Amino acid sequence: MHNFPVYSPEQALHLPLFSEKKVEVWVKRDDMIHPFISGNKWRKLKYTLQDALENNTEELVTFGGPWSNHLLATACAGALFDIATTAFVRGEEVDNPVLKMCQLYGMNLHFVNRTAYKDKNSLFQQYQQSNTNNTYFIDEGGSSILAAQGCAEIITELQNHYDHIICAAGTGATVAGLAKGLLSTGKFNTQLHVIPVLKRGEFIIDEMKKLNAPIENVHLHTNFHFGGYAKTKPELIDFIKTFVAQSGIMIEPTYTGKTMYALHALIQTNQIRAQQRVLFIHTGGLTGLLGQLNLF
Ligand SMILES: *Cc1c(COP(=O)(O)O)cnc(C)c1O
Repeated sequence: MHNFPVYSPEQALHLPLFSEKKVEVWVKRDDMIHPFISGNKWRKLKYTLQDALENNTEELVTFGGPWSNHLLATACAGALFDIATTAFVRGEEVDNPVLKMCQLYGMNLHFVNRTAYKDKNSLFQQYQQSNTNNTYFIDEGGSSILAAQGCAEIITELQNHYDHIICAAGTGATVAGLAKGLLSTGKFNTQLHVIPVLKRGEFIIDEMKKLNAPIENVHLHTNFHFGGYAKTKPELIDFIKTFVAQSGIMIEPTYTGKTMYALHALIQTNQIRAQQRVLFIHTGGLTGLLGQLNLF
C-alpha cells in the first residue's frame, strides 16, 4: 500500500485572549503528519500519487518556487514510493536548504526564468518528449481535484463539532477540500474562514468553484497577507514570537503565522464570539522557516 498512517490529533489550545473572550480554540495538527511531506502537502499528494501509480508512472514532474514546501514533499514522497521526481524551479539558479533536501531525496532540479515558468504545460510537454520515462504532471502547489479530495479527509477525521474552521490558502485546493468535506459530512453550520496569503486573494473563491467546492459558508479575509506572498511585517514577526513561546506550537510567517494572526484578530473583534468552538488547521510547512530565521 502506497500510504502511511496519518497522525494528526485535535488539540485544545489555551491562551489568555481565548479565555478572556470565552472562545474554545483547537488545533488540527496536520504539521505532525510527516516532517517533510508536511501538513496539507501529504493530503494533496495522497490521491495524486495513487493515480500516478495506477497509471504506471515512473517519474513525477512538478513546479514551484525555490522555498516550496510542495517540492520538498514531492521529492520525499517520490523517494518513499520509488518514483523518480523532477522539478522546474522558478527563477535563477540558487542553492538553499529546502532545495538541498529535495536533491538529497533524489529530485532533479531545472531552474527556469519567470517567463518560461509561466507556461508549465509547454515545459512539461518538452520534457516529456525528451524523456523515455512514463511521466506525470503535478501542478504548482500540488493543486488539483484529487488534491482537494485528499484535503476533505481533514474533515472526515474530526472528533469534535466546530462552529468555525480557519485555514490558510495559497492555491485554494486545501480550503476547497475542507468545504467539500463539510458538505459531504452534513456539517452545514460550520463557518469556513479562509486566509489568502497572497495579495488580491479574491481569486481563491474562483479556484474553489473550479474544484467544485461549495462557497455558501466561506468567509474570505483578504486583509491578512502582510504585503503579499512570503512578505512579512514586524508586527507579524512579533506576534509569531509571542505565540510560539506561549503555546509551544511552531508556526511560520508565510502561511500559519498569518492565519493564526487572523484568528486572534477575529476573536479580538468578536467576529468569533463567546461560547463558540474554533478549529485552526495547522497546515505544516515549517521547513520554510529555514530561510526566515534571520527575521526573528
Ligand atoms: C502550501 C501550503 C498552504 C497552501 O495550501 P493551498 O492548498 O495551496 O491553498 C498552506 N499552508 C502551508 C503550510 C503550506 O505549505
